[in-house]
Amino acid sequence: MRLVTYRGDKGPRAAGARPDGVVDLHQADPELPHCTKTLLAGWADYRPRAEAALARGEALPREAIELAPPVPNPQKVICVGANYADHATESGMAPPPEPILFAKFPTAVRADGDPIVLPRVSGEVDYEAELVVVIGRRGRNIPREQALAHVAAYACGNDVSARDWQLRKPGGQWLLGKSFDSFAPMGPALVTADEIPDPSGLDIQLRLNGQTMQHSNTRHFIFPIDFLVAYISTVCTLLPGDLIFTGTPEGVGFARTPPVFLQPGDEVEVEIERIGVLRNPVAAE
Ligand code: ZN
Repeated sequence: MRLVTYRGDKGPRAAGARPDGVVDLHQADPELPHCTKTLLAGWADYRPRAEAALARGEALPREAIELAPPVPNPQKVICVGANYADHATESGMAPPPEPILFAKFPTAVRADGDPIVLPRVSGEVDYEAELVVVIGRRGRNIPREQALAHVAAYACGNDVSARDWQLRKPGGQWLLGKSFDSFAPMGPALVTADEIPDPSGLDIQLRLNGQTMQHSNTRHFIFPIDFLVAYISTVCTLLPGDLIFTGTPEGVGFARTPPVFLQPGDEVEVEIERIGVLRNPVAAE
């Protein structure tokens, strides 16, 4: 199912997407939660009811609702650096022997259509097309062979990065350079994992103002998703709604000659096979 979250009168509401609009799942079936995280945590049990509710519920036309980020309030946003060998090379790094992990503050998360806001304090804001993994079932020390059972859904994401902060502030401020408000757009929907049994062969691309800048496939991951989930869970408990941005392929702006950075008025699209297109305009602060 394609799950979205929309801004309701009383807060964010989980909904299923249909060609004619979205169906508020709790409204269609009061046994279903209105909270996306709760729905993801129990998706295996909720799925039959949610499918029935989506089929028979009344659709709200897409233009009548405002999308929220598909996970409105993730507890963690974990990112993987240099997870495609070609991007490691263009960044001047050797392919890492173990995953390089960092984080974004959850306040960076935005929905499809929300602007990426260029902070006044950066002149080098870059794009990164990424497949986002959404955790469903909580877990710690998850064995690799059970890891995909902890994944509830997938989405398109853009790991927007202020390169001047990330690379040239004292110490290299990856956390800050990646955490400006609006630097984690994702969506437009979550596609539940039952629809994507094998996430390791998905075409991924990024277009800037219609021009293809990145084009690869998740089969080129250095560390596949089951490995990442197991690895991260040796450090911290993964919780429903936690997001893992799985890394970006070759073609980012700062590695080009001359470099390409986002400008007010740009439009960035991340497209992933079987998942959809995430579209965000770029605006000045
Ligand atoms: Zn990234």
